[in-house]
Amino acid sequence: MGYLKDERPQTIGVEGTWILSAYHYKGSRLLEEYVKGLKRKKLIGSFCPGCAKVIVPPRNLCGRCHRIMDERKTVSDKGTITCFVVSPPIFKGKLKVIGMDPVEAGLIKDGEVVIPIFVKFDGSDSNADTILLNADPKTVHIGMRVKAVWAKKPQGALSDLEGVEPI
Ligand SMILES: [Zn+2]
Repeated sequence: MGYLKDERPQTIGVEGTWILSAYHYKGSRLLEEYVKGLKRKKLIGSFCPGCAKVIVPPRNLCGRCHRIMDERKTVSDKGTITCFVVSPPIFKGKLKVIGMDPVEAGLIKDGEVVIPIFVKFDGSDSNADTILLNADPKTVHIGMRVKAVWAKKPQGALSDLEGVEPI
């Protein structure tokens, strides 16, 4: 049996609307701790008493040794890129993310390139996903040193960490 991608060379699209306001998310204690840290421009991770790993954002259980991770550590807001993707230029009307055009929504400029990355912040043992800002896509590489870009007025939200930029 071959790969599905060989049988279906084109991406399948499904038209529809996802009404996000219809969903309610129960507040997570870990998420609350994390965003409280972000409001103070601090990156908080969970510390494993078994294997001493620090995971950012924090988790309840260690994925390696399955111990409860109820201690916290603050890690550096500087780190290293461990994985990245450079998008093609994104134009108005050409892409929908959860039913929304990111250009029309004002999230990105018309024709902008987006660089989603994984970053390992200094002092942590995990990869955090965010985006690379203020960088030339041609210079991005694994091992690139970056620092956090904080919102001008942090409000205790995940968006307080806007992304990272080259050091
Ligand atoms: Zn562990």
